Amino acid sequence: MKAIVVENFGGPEVMEFKEISRPTLGKGEVLIKLHACGVNPVDTYVRSGVRGGPLPYTPGLDGAGTVAEVGDEVVNLRVGDRVFLCGSITGTYAEYAVCSQAQVQPLPDNVSFVHGAGVFVPYGTAYTALFLFGEAKPGEVVLIHGGSGGVGIAAIQFARARGLTVIATAGTERGCDLVLREGAHYAVNHNDAGYESVIVKLAGSTGVNLIIEMLANKNLQRDLELLSFGGRVVVVGNRGTIEINPRDMMSKSARILGFNLLNIAGAELAEIYSALQAGLRNETLRPVLGMEFPLKDAAKAHVAILEPGSFGKMVLVP
Ligand code: NAP
Repeated sequence: MKAIVVENFGGPEVMEFKEISRPTLGKGEVLIKLHACGVNPVDTYVRSGVRGGPLPYTPGLDGAGTVAEVGDEVVNLRVGDRVFLCGSITGTYAEYAVCSQAQVQPLPDNVSFVHGAGVFVPYGTAYTALFLFGEAKPGEVVLIHGGSGGVGIAAIQFARARGLTVIATAGTERGCDLVLREGAHYAVNHNDAGYESVIVKLAGSTGVNLIIEMLANKNLQRDLELLSFGGRVVVVGNRGTIEINPRDMMSKSARILGFNLLNIAGAELAEIYSALQAGLRNETLRPVLGMEFPLKDAAKAHVAILEPGSFGKMVLVP
């Protein structure tokens, strides 16, 4: 089968498009024929080597396809089932991936494979940030600080369905149009000078109760200044360090929270899966397809995903 293989950590060019043997199944495992693989920023961090990990490996956590083979002791999955992946054992940048049966979720008929490849990481992260950590409640004002990318769009759709007032930022006019189309009540461009004062006006007397932050190293101090009393900032994305004034937390009884989706397990993960199934089926969750690349061009996708001007979810097609 064709797959992307990383033999040494480094820049996007270390991803080689190769013919390798199709993996075999162990007990409780299934082989998935991938129709699309989702590209996430974390894939670039892993490939660069900053997180360590075994070599060689095939990147990718997200994907969607059909069950091609079922191992011993697998229950409730049959050859031909449409599924989306929530991680895998062998990596999703490939024609086939081996998964434990716990990593496979049914893909509803109303969701295409390219859209299904953009579900788990973005929507699982958005749910965790808003509800498991951020304790979002109907009637509150949420700022999705970075609304135009994979996690941001997912957070807008979840928050809007739950009855929050949603202010979302993007760095381009096209991104601002997108966040409005996907359900934000207000869009603000985070590249405009003084955009924070626009957010304060939009939040009105309630103030900003919750911030879902995609670039904490740039925004965390200003987030603390924006929050209302009892407010929460949930750090989803961060690419460096920042100095903050803790007094801005003390005076407002504010909280800063952070998490890594891959540490979510057990009952909380089951809760996420239920929310994803319900939201995909009733179409409150509608993954937005951004750029699409052939699998062999994974290196181009890794360059593009870190560039400004995000627009929904990026996928690779084997
Ligand atoms: P993405 O699709 O690349 O989107 C990035 C978002 O950040 C875009 O909306 C982008 O807006 C926005 N952004 C750029 N500059 C910004 C600024 N100055 N202030 C606020 N937002 C800004 O990435 P993603 O998949 O949504 O992921 C977002 C971040 O969360 C990444 O850093 C990712 O690694 C991280 N993440 C963490 C977890 C976790 O478990 N904690 C899970 C998933 C993702 P424009 O491009 O329009 O400027």
